[in-house]
Parts: sequence; C-alpha cells; structure tokens
Amino acid sequence: MIFDTDTENAPDAINEQSGMKTPNVSGLELRLAHPQRLGLRKRLGLGLFSKLYRDQVERHPLRTLFWECTLRCNLDCRHCGSDCKSDHVLNAATKTTQAGAAPTAPTAPAPQPQPQPAHSAQPAHPAHPDMPIEDFLKALDSITPHVDPHKVMIVFSGGEVLMRRDLEKAGLEVYRRGYPWGMVTNGMLLDEARFASLLKAGLHSITLSLDGFERDHIYIRRHPKSYENALRALRLITKEPSVAYDVVTCVTAESLKRLPEFREFLIAEGVKAWRVFTIFPVGRAATDPALQLTDAQFTELMEFIRQTRREGRIRLDYACEGFLGGYETEVRDNFYHCSAGVTTGSIRIDGAISGCTSIRAAHHQGNIYTDDFMTVWNEKFQKFRRREWTRKEQCADCRMWRWCLGGGMHLYDDNDKLLLCHYNRLNG
Ligand code: SF4
Ligand code: SF4
Repeated sequence: MIFDTDTENAPDAINEQSGMKTPNVSGLELRLAHPQRLGLRKRLGLGLFSKLYRDQVERHPLRTLFWECTLRCNLDCRHCGSDCKSDHVLNAATKTTQAGAAPTAPTAPAPQPQPQPAHSAQPAHPAHPDMPIEDFLKALDSITPHVDPHKVMIVFSGGEVLMRRDLEKAGLEVYRRGYPWGMVTNGMLLDEARFASLLKAGLHSITLSLDGFERDHIYIRRHPKSYENALRALRLITKEPSVAYDVVTCVTAESLKRLPEFREFLIAEGVKAWRVFTIFPVGRAATDPALQLTDAQFTELMEFIRQTRREGRIRLDYACEGFLGGYETEVRDNFYHCSAGVTTGSIRIDGAISGCTSIRAAHHQGNIYTDDFMTVWNEKFQKFRRREWTRKEQCADCRMWRWCLGGGMHLYDDNDKLLLCHYNRLNG
C-alpha cells in the first residue's frame, strides 16, 4: 500500500512518489512522499496562515497563562529536564471546540498554544519552594483589567501539581476571578476524592501523562504504582463529562513498537483526545539513548499519527514543537506555530515571566516580584515575536524559514543556538 504525504496535490505528488521507505508501522509497508516537498495547496495555506500569525504577533493577546506552582514531584522520571513534559494541557481546553480532522485551509493561530511541549517531573528535592498562592494571585489581579478572564486559560503546571494540598484553594480563587483553569498531572494522587474536590474548585481541563502500557510507563516513570495510579486517574477523567481532557504520551523507541496496540487500548477506554511527544535531548534524556527516536522512527511516528487521524477513531496530535514540512496539518490540526510570547505566557516557580514553561531561563523576560506582568508582556518578548535573529547557522539559507521561523523557542539553548530541527529529522 502506498501513501503520499500530500495527496491533494497531484502535480507535486507525482514527483514525490519515489520517496523513502520507512520501517514497518502496524504491518503495512509504507512508501512515503518526500516530506521536504510541499504541495501547492499546502504552500498557499502556509502563506495565508503566516499572515494570520503575523497579525496575532502584532496583537499578542494573552490566551494561556501557565503557573509553575511547584517543583515538588512524587516521581523521578527518566526524561525529567527534557521537554517531554506536559504544558500541553491547553490542548485539553481547546480541542473540545475543534474538529477532529486536519484542516487543509488555513486557520487562525489557535487561541491557546499547544505546548505543547509538555512537561512533568522535576527533581525530588526541588531547588525552589512552592510559590505562595497570594503571590500568583497578586500578579493575576494586575493582569485582569487588561484581559477578558473568560478568554484566558490558567494552567497549573509543575513538578506534580497535586503535591500541593492547597491547589483547590488556588483553583477556586482563579475561578472566582472568572478564569477557566486546568492542570497537568501524572495521576499518582488523583483518586476519586481528590478529583471530586478539584471539580468543586472549578477544574475545567486536565492533561494526564500516560506513556504507554505498564512496562513502558513504569520504565519512564520509575515508580511501581505509577501505571496503576495513572490508569485509575484515566478512568475517572474519561467518565466526567464536565472536564476537557487529553492524554499525553512520551514516545520512545520501545513504546513506538506498541503504539498501534496502545491506541486501541485508549479507544477501548473511551479516550477521545490523545497527544504524543518525542523526547528532546536535554537534561537526563540527553544521556539516555533508550529515550530517543532515530530519524527513521520519528518519520514512522509521523506516519502513525497521520494514519490514525485519517481513521478518525481518536483525536491524535503531535506536539507543537517544530515545523514538519509535508506533514503540516497531517499530524496536528493547525499549521505549526510557536505561541510562546504571542498568546502564551508563564509565571515560573521563582516569579520569572516567560513564554511557556519549556523555555530555558536564559530567555526569561522579567519577574513578577520586580516587574508588572502586562508591562513585560506588552513591551518585551521581542525575541519571541521578531524571529529574524534565528536566521543563522542551519536556518540561514533554509527555504522553510518563512513558515518555520526557526522552530519553537524551547529548542534554543542559553546561547540562542538551535538544538534540534524536526524538519531536518524528517529528511535525515
Ligand atoms: S533549518 Fe531552521 S528554519 Fe529550516 S526547518 Fe529547521 S528550524 Fe526551521
Ligand atoms: S516554546 Fe513554543 S513550540 Fe515550544 S513548547 Fe512552548 S509554545 Fe510550543
């Protein structure tokens, strides 16, 4: 069976038929169109989307605000420090209003970002204590006169947010101010009583980390009860119609083999929205080859997502982290864009103001303890919004730059050096 990555573009597709082969996914031999080639319709779509994105950059309406409320965690995940974490709770909030099929026409930049990169475990002995709720609320109250709270999603992230016994208090205060709120969790502490208490505090959306079947999940999470507890959480969440949710999965070379089976498992469990990430080679993940996909496996994953989306039995997306060439709109609902500093902001554990919680400290723009958040939001963030500085090294002559803008901000190290290009992986 032959698949092409852009079948709507026959003239371009003909030239693409001699593309590369990838390893086997779900028993089918796949002959892929060369992902470097973009068909005419997709190019037109990208052009229109770029205009909409530029307009969004000019207006930079705050739509999602992460609060990194704790660095404490009850797990010690192998990938801690990588970007395989779960900021992507926003997806749980936004996807409920979006169609499952990938659009072929351009859409406006999503009102809330897809960070994506996601995010989870932190050191067992955090370097910073939890931020007092009052400090966060003071910053939030300074933001409120400048926004419509109903249009700004507040996302509690960590660490493991449920380590905070006062999370419900924070949620209730946020809810009283008119903001929807959500959270990212590993599910370890999410039993029936805690879930009920969170719902009472106005919980609107939730992202649960589940990294595959028991063996794969425990390998990554390194706790014998991590799978059992995450499954308990999953079964609570899927039965609660008032909460938007998605399941996030870090895909490794091992778990990739079982992904088709895991998809069937999730469908049988009633999961409607699923998001997968690949592990970024920083932190612990950089020294653990078992966590990384080869370039061929990365392409295999893209193909798996594309096929799953076409089947339409579960909504599956890849994270927001990089431009994917011919796979644009095939593995995500929207064209690639980095919403950090454009519609997504964050308040980090130490008060630092940034774009999303996956971004390194060197790119922080201010601090709530010394600066007014909205002044920083409106007057700084130039690095996030004017991306010409990324046009160097491998991006200098890249023909994709006009759509990619050098990739997600979290892909840059402290010296503004790009660490990974997803598009080039697909051409590896
Ligand atoms: S080389 Fe740079 S501009 Fe080109 S696709 Fe990769 S990250 Fe984007
Ligand atoms: S920096 Fe941009 S691309 Fe990366 S996770 Fe955050 S929003 Fe997504």
